[in-house]
Amino acid sequence: MRILVTVKFVPDLQSQRSFTEGAVTRTGDDGTMNELDENAVEAALQLKEAAGEGEVYALTVGGDDAVAAVRKALQLGVDHAVHVSDAAVAGSDVFGTAKVIAAAVEKIHEESPLDLVITGMAALDGLTSMLPTALAAELDWSQLTLASGLTVEGSTATVVRHLPDAHETVSASLPAVVSVTDEANKPRYPNFKLIMAARSKPVTTWTLADLAIDPATVGAGAARTVVVDASPRPPKEDRTVVTDTGEGGVALADYLLGKGLA
Ligand SMILES: Cc1cc2nc3c(=O)[nH]c(=O)nc-3n(C[C@H](O)[C@H](O)[C@H](O)COP(=O)(O)OP(=O)(O)OC[C@H]3O[C@@H](n4cnc5c(N)ncnc54)[C@H](O)[C@@H]3O)c2cc1C
Repeated sequence: MRILVTVKFVPDLQSQRSFTEGAVTRTGDDGTMNELDENAVEAALQLKEAAGEGEVYALTVGGDDAVAAVRKALQLGVDHAVHVSDAAVAGSDVFGTAKVIAAAVEKIHEESPLDLVITGMAALDGLTSMLPTALAAELDWSQLTLASGLTVEGSTATVVRHLPDAHETVSASLPAVVSVTDEANKPRYPNFKLIMAARSKPVTTWTLADLAIDPATVGAGAARTVVVDASPRPPKEDRTVVTDTGEGGVALADYLLGKGLA
């Protein structure tokens, strides 16, 4: 089983977020691997362990700092790490990002075929959940999105999708792109042995030239989407905090009456 997992380097959600000219301001000191990509890494490691053989790649696209995302994946136990970094990628939209990731996937796939690409359900900064679909389209592979469960039998991947009023079971032939939700599994913690082993594992770095991508086809200049406006979230309105000492219900009723809501 050969699997590639996409992991994105994102600003820490707890940090103060800001925008510069329509793009998320990214600083190296508060960045981390997108938390939802831990589920993607876990899904890949579980499939490899169940198969008893295989290799797992972690791939990120981003500036110098983004290498931290694949290093984290190495600590979790993936076998190989690839970082695509090129100044010309800056400002790419989802289509540009998917094009770059697809070229890297194809390069690895040509050397030795991959069975699956597994992504997280969303990147917690961009939060479009579009990358998996755009990537499957670029690769012309099947796509199975928002999987709460994933199994592979022979050359078929099967996922379970939890919808509001139904549970869907959907299958596709390999190779396929699968995005997994945070319900798919419980990500493991890196242990000391893996953290130490990860320090000596190499990270392969590719530029656009390594992927034979024309720089004019990605980056801000080629973006098909544009952030029209971004403004800080307004501060929360004053809140009334009531500590319930047995009179909570009365306080709530009084509050609603005071607002004319009851
Ligand atoms: C170098 C660079 C510069 C960028 N500059 C801008 C900019 O100027 N303005 C702007 O609006 N946006 C910019 N982006 C963000 C880019 O548009 C988004 O990364 C892309 O559209 C994916 O959308 P998303 O973040 O909503 O991911 P989603 O679709 O929500 O993510 C789903 C999954 O896709 C995978 N994934 C997503 N992005 C990456 C990645 N980069 N590497 C590896 N895996 C990934 C993860 O597994 C993730 O869980 C830039 C991105 C890069 C890499």
